[in-house]
Amino acid sequence: AIFKVGFLSDVYQERPLSEKIPKIRTRFPPEPNGFLHIGHSKAIAVNFGFARHHGGECILRFDDTNPEGEEERYYEAIRDIVSWLGFTPVRETCASDNFAQLYELGEDLIRRDGAYVCHCTKAEIKAQRGEGADGERGKERFACSHRSRPVEASLAEFRAMRDGKYKAGEAALRMKQNIEDPNPQMWDLFAWRIMDGDKQHHRTGGEWKIYPTYDFAHCLCDSIEGISHSLCTTEFELSRVSYEWLCDKLEVYRPMQREYGRLNITGTVLSKRKIIQLVKEGHVRDWDDPRLYTLIALRRRGVPPGAILAFVNDVGVTKAVTNVQVSKFEQIVRQYLENTVPRLMVVLEPLKVVIDDLPDGHEELLEVPFSKDPAFGSHQLPFTKTVYIERSDFREVDSPDYFRLAPGKTVGLLKVPFPITATSFEKDPASGAVTCVHAKYEKPADSAAPKKPKTFIHWVGESSAQNSPIRAEIRAFNPLFKSQDPSAHPAGFLADINPDSERIYPNAFLESGFLDISRSGPWPKEGGAEAADSSKNPHSIRFQGMRVGYFAIDRESTTDHVVLNQIVTLKDTQGK
Ligand code: ATP
Ligand code: MG
Ligand code: MG
Repeated sequence: AIFKVGFLSDVYQERPLSEKIPKIRTRFPPEPNGFLHIGHSKAIAVNFGFARHHGGECILRFDDTNPEGEEERYYEAIRDIVSWLGFTPVRETCASDNFAQLYELGEDLIRRDGAYVCHCTKAEIKAQRGEGADGERGKERFACSHRSRPVEASLAEFRAMRDGKYKAGEAALRMKQNIEDPNPQMWDLFAWRIMDGDKQHHRTGGEWKIYPTYDFAHCLCDSIEGISHSLCTTEFELSRVSYEWLCDKLEVYRPMQREYGRLNITGTVLSKRKIIQLVKEGHVRDWDDPRLYTLIALRRRGVPPGAILAFVNDVGVTKAVTNVQVSKFEQIVRQYLENTVPRLMVVLEPLKVVIDDLPDGHEELLEVPFSKDPAFGSHQLPFTKTVYIERSDFREVDSPDYFRLAPGKTVGLLKVPFPITATSFEKDPASGAVTCVHAKYEKPADSAAPKKPKTFIHWVGESSAQNSPIRAEIRAFNPLFKSQDPSAHPAGFLADINPDSERIYPNAFLESGFLDISRSGPWPKEGGAEAADSSKNPHSIRFQGMRVGYFAIDRESTTDHVVLNQIVTLKDTQGK
C-alpha cells in the first residue's frame, strides 16, 4: 500500500534532510507488556512509513522500563507482527540496553542542578502540584522541601537508591523543573523510581532496583539512538516541553517530537485488562480470537496486512483522534479482497439436490476461472447428478417475491450451462427438516431457447474422483459487542457481549479448487513477509466464497479437519 504522508510532510519540512540530519531515523517504541492492537498499526505505519518515504530507517525499540507486566512472549509477538505488516526495522533496541548510560545521565542531571532526590509521599506530591485530598485541582502549587538540598546530598541519595537502601515509594529522583509553569509536565516530574525488590526484569534480571520513567527515558533513548523525528500520539503533546527541557538541560542532541492522533476503533475493547477478562472467562478463544482487534486476532481471522495499511491510510494521518466503527474497517477489508483473492464455491449448510433426469454417475467437468482476472488461472469443477446447495436457498413453499429454489421454481447453478427446476422434496418425519430436493435439468431440446433463470445460486458437486466436496468447519463472526461503546454499559462491558458473535458451521462443503488455491497461496499476492513464510501462516490462504463471504484458513486447521474463518461477509450486512 502506498503510504499517504498527510500532516507528516509539515513535520518533514520542519526538519528536512540536511548536513545535521543526514538520514531520517524514526522509532516504533512499544512496551512489551501486551499484544499490539489495531491502534498500534497506525503507530507502525506512521513511523516505518515516514522513514521509508524519505529513504530513512526505523528502529524497533522495546520500551522496557517497567518490569511489571513485561514478558518475553510479547517481544516475540511484536517483532513478528511488525514483520507481518511488511516492515523491517533497521535494528532492534531496548530501552534497558541503556540503563547504565541513563543512570549516568541521572547523576549528570543532579550535578547540573537539574534533579534532586525526593522522599515525599504520593499525597504530599499531589499537594505540591495543587491537588487537594478530595481530588480537587488548581490549588496553589509549591516546591518540594527536598528541592533545595545540596547537589552532593542528592548524588549520595541517588546512589543509595541504586544500591537498594530504600524501598519503593521511599525515595525518587525528580527533575528540577518549574512548579510555576502552567504545564503539568514541568512540575518536577519523576526521573527514576524504585521498584519492589523482587521484581525481575526479563532482560536485566535483578540488576536494577531503580527504573527510569517514560519522561526521563524516552527522550534520552531517542537522543542516544540519533532519532531525527520522534513521532508519538497527541496525549504526549504537553510532554514535548519536558522532552525538550531534559535534552537541553543535559546538553545532549535533541530529536524533534511531533504528535499524531490516536486511532480508536469503536464497538470493541482494546484494553489489556478487558481482553484478559474475555479470555479467562471463555468469551473468546484466546488473545488471537478472530472477534478481537489485536493484530494477532486480525491475522488469524485472515485480514491481509495490506488491508490494515489501507485502512490506516484511509483514516488518514492527522493530529485529530479518530474513532472508527468496526463496520468501516470491514468495508475496507472487503474492498481490498474483492479483486485480489480467488473465488470458489462454499456451501455453509449443505442441502442435497438430486437432478433426477441426469444419468447415474453423470459427471461433467466444467473449466472454471478463479477470478475475472485471467491471471488467477482456472480449475475443474465437477457437475454431477447430486449437488449440494445452501439450505437457505430452498423454500418448501414458493411465493412471487421469492427467487431462489422452491417446488416448481427454476434457478441457475453458478457456472452450469442450464438451470434446474425443483420438482419435489423429502423430509425427515422426526425433525421436519428437508433432507433432499429433487430437480430436473432444463437442457432445452435442440431448437428450443434455453430457460433464463432470474437467480443463480452456489453449489458443490459430489465426485470422489475430483475430491469433491471437501468438508470443513467454518466459523463466521458477528461483532463481539452489541453497542458501539461496550465500556459505557452500566453493568460493565461484559454485559454488552453479543450472545450471537460466533456462528459455527460444522459441516460446510468446499469445492476442490480449495486444494489448488491452498497450494498456490498466499492470496493476495502482495509479497513481503507473508509470501516468505506462507507455510507458517495458514491465514494467508484466502478466497471469496461466492455469494457468501471471504474466508481464510484457521491455525487449528489440519488436512483431516479443515477449519476456516470468515474474514468478512460479501456485503455489508450490519444493521440489516
Ligand atoms: P495501549 O495502552 O493501548 O497498549 P500504549 O500507549 O500503552 O497503548 P505502547 O506499547 O506504549 O502502547 O505503544 C507503542 C506506540 O504505539 C506508542 O508510540 C503509542 O503512542 C502508539 N499507540 C498506542 N495506541 C495507539 C493508538 N490507538 N493509535 C495510534 N497509536 C497508538
Ligand atoms: Mg501497551
Ligand atoms: Mg505506553
